[in-house]
Amino acid sequence: NQDQDPDTHIRETDNDAALARLSAVQKQYVADPFIAALVPRAHLQKPRPPLINIGTYLRGTAIDELVDQWIRLASAESLGNGNGNGKVQIVSLGAGSDTRFWRLATGPHKDLLVRYVELDFPEITSRKAMAIRKSKVLNPLLGPSESVKIGNGGTSLHSPVYNLIPVDLRKPPSESLAPLLAGSSDPLLLPNVQTLLLFECVLAYMSPEASDAVIQWFAEYALQDGAGSVGSIVYEMFGLGDAFGRVMLSNLKSRNVSLPGVEPYTDKASLPQRFLRLNFTAADALTLHEIRRAYVAPEELERISTLEFLDELEELDLVLDHYAITWGSKAPSGKAQDHWKT
Ligand code: SAM
Repeated sequence: NQDQDPDTHIRETDNDAALARLSAVQKQYVADPFIAALVPRAHLQKPRPPLINIGTYLRGTAIDELVDQWIRLASAESLGNGNGNGKVQIVSLGAGSDTRFWRLATGPHKDLLVRYVELDFPEITSRKAMAIRKSKVLNPLLGPSESVKIGNGGTSLHSPVYNLIPVDLRKPPSESLAPLLAGSSDPLLLPNVQTLLLFECVLAYMSPEASDAVIQWFAEYALQDGAGSVGSIVYEMFGLGDAFGRVMLSNLKSRNVSLPGVEPYTDKASLPQRFLRLNFTAADALTLHEIRRAYVAPEELERISTLEFLDELEELDLVLDHYAITWGSKAPSGKAQDHWKT
């Protein structure tokens, strides 16, 4: 029953994210041949307003770029430290209907990925597992059909690289993340491998304590023998205490979603603290406004400005000022390292 389960509203945010991505594809902001397979009745969905499309474009392309940089540098690091083979693993937390695995699996770094693990509530993972199995676009990229298995009553999917696992990330990681280590001769999450954590629009729905516990758990696992390292990318709203932020917040509250994970992040300077406080070796953040102003190539800005008419330019910048990408990395002690160049 919708009204009795407060998590229904949290899970519904995946639908918004998927429709936003589909819309950005329909309007040619981004190319993504995979999203339509994950959105029911995709051909009947109406595009979202230009402001949402631009936000989706900026966050998507900026995160793609950071992931790309991380893969290149982490792979080189793994080769350089003597006991790695240049392969890296990625965990997407609150992955929802994200298509990044398939985009990477058809991209230049496909051979560098040893594992790609997606975590979300069981209602979301079972829907995604079913959509993947039914899709002639998604399914073949998982490997030979005999290597692809559905488990846990349809809520998980395993394949050699891609794995989809049901979890509630608010629970203690020793319990919720235990399935990642199951079958320890071939655990889902490999020890001593460079590991990237992706949190796109998910930490807002969790307490800061629960997020910290999850990040810590992965960092400890990746760094346990001194060979691996951990990188992490967070995309989230912040600064909702100012005048415009309060307007955004009241719109969000009217949808019955509470955002305990946003409250501590009052300004941009507070964002890297989510990693530095957990002893990450490097961390930084950029707002979407800064990314639009200084990190998008002029020809791309020109291209996207011709896609749709936008008459809310001032509002655009105000909205983009309240969304940021934060990244951090943690090297084994004694090694200073940063996986990213800004
Ligand atoms: N990361 C995807 C993206 O950016 O397109 C989906 C973002 S969607 C706004 C948030 C996702 O986080 C939803 O799929 C939701 O179910 C998931 N989520 C939120 N809280 C969660 C929790 N405690 N445990 C597992 N998943 C969670």
